[in-house]
Amino acid sequence: MNVSIRTLAIAGSGLSAIFAALTIKSQKNINVVLFDKARGLGGRLATRRAENGKFDHGAQYFDISTLLDLPQIQTLLDEKIISSNNGSNKFFSPGGMTNIAKFLLKEFDVKKEHKLLSISDKNGEYDLNFESSQTLKCDDIILSCPMPQTIEILKNSQIEYNDSDMDVLTKLEYDPCIVLMIKSKNKISEYNKELGSIYENQDISWVGDNTLKKVSNEENFYTVQCSPEFSFKYFDQEYDKTNKLLEKELTSIFGKDYDVLSNHKWRYSVPKNYYPYSESLVIKNSNFIGLCGDIFTNGKFDGAVRSGISIANKYIKNEF
Ligand SMILES: Cc1cc2nc3c(=O)[nH]c(=O)nc-3n(C[C@H](O)[C@H](O)[C@H](O)COP(=O)(O)OP(=O)(O)OC[C@H]3O[C@@H](n4cnc5c(N)ncnc54)[C@H](O)[C@@H]3O)c2cc1C
Repeated sequence: MNVSIRTLAIAGSGLSAIFAALTIKSQKNINVVLFDKARGLGGRLATRRAENGKFDHGAQYFDISTLLDLPQIQTLLDEKIISSNNGSNKFFSPGGMTNIAKFLLKEFDVKKEHKLLSISDKNGEYDLNFESSQTLKCDDIILSCPMPQTIEILKNSQIEYNDSDMDVLTKLEYDPCIVLMIKSKNKISEYNKELGSIYENQDISWVGDNTLKKVSNEENFYTVQCSPEFSFKYFDQEYDKTNKLLEKELTSIFGKDYDVLSNHKWRYSVPKNYYPYSESLVIKNSNFIGLCGDIFTNGKFDGAVRSGISIANKYIKNEF
């Protein structure tokens, strides 16, 4: 007899999506399809190549102390996909943060450049409608996008949801972050006791060293993050103008010999507030729709992992 297995579609290829997919796949015989609007994997685990070096321009380092019982984390350590310097609890991925996503998703065929716009409920299954006009049929859905993007998808869809859930979700916010990727002539190691330096009360809030993290073989490749206030105020300005506004602070850090090789803007970088009730949220049980992401926990690497596992466990326990 030909027994058809369920298809679960997961929006996103960031940490919460990855751990939702891995947890479900290890316990249930179902078809798991991941898709992401971006060209690369990993979401806010993001690495960019420029000239002969590389920059992590999203998450900088992370704490794994609450994740050590997870087999996937042990494998990442054993395979040296993640490590830390001198026994520090600040972990990173030599070669760049996106390596973590690439490694963990190697068994999955992730559909890239698939931006989900809406979901149509077709009595017993869903059609996912993408910006490209493509569609995909599935039985169940997990959305791991930053919350404003998830809300937009739900509001464009023929899906019934609980208004009081939606009220809480709509109040969740993130800080934006403008990022500069800098090649400096000078080392700034004298400031650099760890993997980077925090700057208080300035337009620049963090300078991360990509050489210390072994992300870049090329020396003096620094990731500069702007403060939430500066990023909010100048988010819609062209990069040339924001880079110019930062010139004085950049010169005081790097001296005059530096080049901005690239920029990035995160509209949703780290949450400003969090979903208070649980580590993930089920919107619908039959023909499951679940939400996960770092805003359900602590806005960090470990929290995103926990949220992905939380929605996976709710999915696994669900009776279909
Ligand atoms: C600049 C910066 C610095 C940070 N620094 C640290 C740090 O030092 N330490 C730390 O622990 N954490 C840090 N973080 C936070 C950390 O990166 C996140 O907590 C974590 O990566 C979030 O994972 P996630 O799965 O919840 O979301 P994401 O990684 O954002 O994944 C969501 C995915 O959904 C996709 N998506 C969105 N809309 C759609 C759509 N319509 N259709 C299809 N796909 C869609 C996105 O492209 C994305 O890939 C930082 C984040 C940023 C941006």
